[in-house]
Parts: sequence; C-alpha cells; structure tokens
Amino acid sequence: MNKLLLSLIFILSLNIAFGQFNKIQTEDGDKCGYDPVKDAELLDLYGKNWGYGYGDLLNDIAEWEQSDYIQVQSIGQSTLGREMYELTITNFDPVKTLKHRIYIHVRTHPNEVQSFRVADEIINYLSAENGIGNYLRDLCIFHIVPMYNPDGVELEYPRENANGVDIESNWNAATPEIEVQNLRARFEELMLEENPIEIALNMHSAHECHRFFWVHHANGTSELYYGLEEEFVESVRSHFLEGIMPFDSHVSWSGGNPGQYPESWWWTNHQEDVMALTYEDMNCASAGLYDQTAYAILYGISDYLDLGYTSIPEDLSNFSFNINTYPNPVKDILSIESNLSSSKEVNLAMYNSLGTLVYETTYTGSTKIDFQSMNLSPGLYIINCKYNGYTNTEKIIYSY
Ligand SMILES: [Zn+2]
Repeated sequence: MNKLLLSLIFILSLNIAFGQFNKIQTEDGDKCGYDPVKDAELLDLYGKNWGYGYGDLLNDIAEWEQSDYIQVQSIGQSTLGREMYELTITNFDPVKTLKHRIYIHVRTHPNEVQSFRVADEIINYLSAENGIGNYLRDLCIFHIVPMYNPDGVELEYPRENANGVDIESNWNAATPEIEVQNLRARFEELMLEENPIEIALNMHSAHECHRFFWVHHANGTSELYYGLEEEFVESVRSHFLEGIMPFDSHVSWSGGNPGQYPESWWWTNHQEDVMALTYEDMNCASAGLYDQTAYAILYGISDYLDLGYTSIPEDLSNFSFNINTYPNPVKDILSIESNLSSSKEVNLAMYNSLGTLVYETTYTGSTKIDFQSMNLSPGLYIINCKYNGYTNTEKIIYSY
C-alpha cells in the first residue's frame, strides 16, 4: 500500500472513531446535545426555572455570606441588569504561601440545572469545617459563579441569554454579549495575579445522561495538553469510577480550535498554563449523586495539583448515604429516596423556615410527604435525613 492510501485509511478510521462526538460538537456549537422535547419534560419535572431561579440564588447567597470562608462579589451585570455573583472560597487568614487558583462557572445553559447541583455540593464541601474542603482551603482559592446566565434562567430560555444568544459559543464574536465580556474581564484580571488561574471548569449537563468531560484533541491544542487533559480527567474519575466516563469518551476539536468557546479563549491566550475543560453532568430524570461527583472533582483537583489530600474514612461512608427529593418546588406530594438498602432505617425531620419541626418519620428505601394534606403554608421547608451519624439536608419549596 502506498503512503497516500494508508493516510486516507487513517483519516477515515479517525472519522469513524470521533464521528459521533464531532457531530454533537460542531453542528451549531451545541455540545450539550439540546433536545426541546426532553427539556420540556424536565422543566415539568423540576418546576419553575428548572427548580432553581435567581431568587433561590439570592437566598443561598445570603446564607453563603454567613460563612467565614466565603466572600461574595458581583463580576458585573447581565443584559437585564441582574448581578453575576462570584463566590471566593478560601481560608482568608494571612496567606503564607501562594495558593492555587481554580475558577468554576456554572449554568451557562439555564436548563442544565444539574450543573448547579454539583457546584452547590462543591460549595458545601469547601465551606465545611472538616474533610477535603478544610484541607483545600489552606492551599487553594476557589472562585465559583453559580449562575452565569441569570436572565436565561428567569426567562426560562433553555440555552440563551436575554438577547437570544447562546453565550457558550459567543466568545469569538466581534462584540460578545455582556455576560461573556464580564467573565472574560474577570479571567483577564485574575491571570495578572502572582498566582493566576490554573484550572478553569465550565459546568454543564447533557441530555445523553452520562457524566463526562469534553477533552480537546491535540489537533486543536497540543500533544502535551492532551496528555494533561487525560491526567486531569482520570484523576477526577479515579474517585468516581462507576459514575464518570473515561477521559477520551468525548473528544472535540480534532479539526482545530473552533474559536467560539470559553475553552477556545483559554487555549488561544494561555495554552498549557490553564487546564480549561467543560464538565457535563447528567441532564435527565435519573441525575443525582451530586455530592459524590463534587467530591470526585475536588479530590481530582488535589491529585492533579499534587496537593496530597488523602481521604479519611468518614468521607467514604458519607457517600453510602444519599437522598433524592423530587419534584422541587412541590405542589402536593414530595418523593424521597435514599440509596441505602431497604434494611437501613433513615430518620427524617422536616422544619419550616422558622426552624419549627412540622413532620417527622423513619423510612427505609423511599417515602413520600403529602404536603397538600398537611395544611402547610407555602414557602421554604428544610428536610434533614439522618443515617448512621450522617445528615443530608434538602431545601424544598412548597407552592400551590
Ligand atoms: Zn450546556
């Protein structure tokens, strides 16, 4: 066989290997695989604003601001004038050494609320007194934008901002949308620090119902970078092997850097200095295990940066206990499932926003709370589920 024929076969087999993922990635910049029918079903399931709106964010911010480890600021305003909030999480006491800087922005696509659920658990870990968050706060500064597209969330535009523009793929526009400008200016500002950003995660969730990272082919980056991407993703994955797909399950940019994404901007301006990746959680009804995912991401960051975190047994037994609550907001009946076997008894206590106990029960496997028959007033309720010394807390909105 001559060389030309060999290379033709090689190109052909590359196309077969990467074909399906290229298709998702390149058609219209919609790498998350948007499906309007599935989205309508999920909006119905999760409720208004896919279960988490700007008002919910403001409530959480008021709570996050109480933490000694969290400072909140705005990086600018959205098209319709909503604040784009950023949390800085670290130990703020006098810094002895330069800390590693990690930037996470979330919910570019409003319908991908699961990306926030993961980020919310990351915030929980990073603000906890013990465990991995406490360890990482001494060595790192985390910046988290929990709602990058607040107008889209409030308008219930599944993909776009108030101008109808998908701000995920607007980074190479002559005049990008204001949301893009604000985030980019913040990136630029932090890259001038003595300790610039080393890891930048862009949090999404995909209808195909898998957890994975989009890694960028060496054709659009470099062989060195492709190796670093493998190291990063496999570091995360090693802490949630059964839940996160192998690093090369979704490879994009085999035809070069497409230019329009945040990661395109990172590669163009900072190459191997910044590990910039899109993470896709599961955008489907079976999504969940957000705390385990958050833990794997944080542990993977520690491994990748050689920070030396080693798990203590408490962290692992915490995973054996998870709950899922749905729908939220609830109109009549709330379903609660734990992932424990049916022999494990969970204690459930529900409080109103004033902290008064309004309901208590024990259950195994799953249970339901009938809000409508309990004569409760609409508003915020807190559910604490306890098992074996561990507590899972969920905030539920009751509206009828
Ligand atoms: Zn997305």
